[in-house]
Amino acid sequence: MKYKRILLKLSGEALQGSNKETHIDPAMLEQYSEEIKRVKEKGVELAIVIGGGNIFRGGEADVLGIDRVQGDYMGMLATVINAMALQSALERHGLYTRLMSGIKMEQVCEPFIRRRAIRHLEKGRIVIFGAGIGNPYFTTDSTASLRAIEIQANVVLKGTRVDGVYSKDPEKFTDAVRYSKLSFQEAYEKNLNIMDMTAFTLCMENKLPIIVFDMNKKGNLLKVAMGEEAGTLIS
Ligand code: UDP
Repeated sequence: MKYKRILLKLSGEALQGSNKETHIDPAMLEQYSEEIKRVKEKGVELAIVIGGGNIFRGGEADVLGIDRVQGDYMGMLATVINAMALQSALERHGLYTRLMSGIKMEQVCEPFIRRRAIRHLEKGRIVIFGAGIGNPYFTTDSTASLRAIEIQANVVLKGTRVDGVYSKDPEKFTDAVRYSKLSFQEAYEKNLNIMDMTAFTLCMENKLPIIVFDMNKKGNLLKVAMGEEAGTLIS
């Protein structure tokens, strides 16, 4: 086993799947739970950060006449909704989970307490971090980096819908080149859009590797978690 403890970042948008009519697609919950279960069965300690972009993004608040900070809190609450859906799906698959929130909401989930999160992981529970870091002007990518450092994860796995980092957007340019490995310095100099700057710098300064991979390809999460080559490794 290459990684003992992993932090998996999933975007909220991914939960939506192809069905834009609903915010959460049950087929995606099913698919992700199965992928996650396969990793858990290998004895890997797993923490998850999930975004909220399928429900609300702070950046969208402006057009609704809602101020940015209020919008960011709405976005954080959106991540809790996704986290609760994922928690239920994982439990349906027989996995033990704990949901910890960056904003206190005791009827719904535990508050984030670092030592407690680590204890849950040691006991084999999957820890889902909801409500981002609990502060406006941050993203769930920054949350993934920060929480990963706090719980001393060995790697951040960023699940996306493309199979790694490309020189340009592969969905727009046919001549985009895919990288299998990059140093933080290279990624920075090439201005590759891996995570937002706050999230990226946190990983770089703390020497925490990131793997960007295609979460929608069956068996890929397990592959990446086992240290096999899939996606792009930034270290
Ligand atoms: N957000 C925030 N602080 C955090 C995490 C998230 O303010 O620590 C807000 C922010 O407005 C963001 C929204 O929550 O737009 C949803 O998260 P994000 O856009 O990162 O989700 P994703 O794009 O990964 O689905």
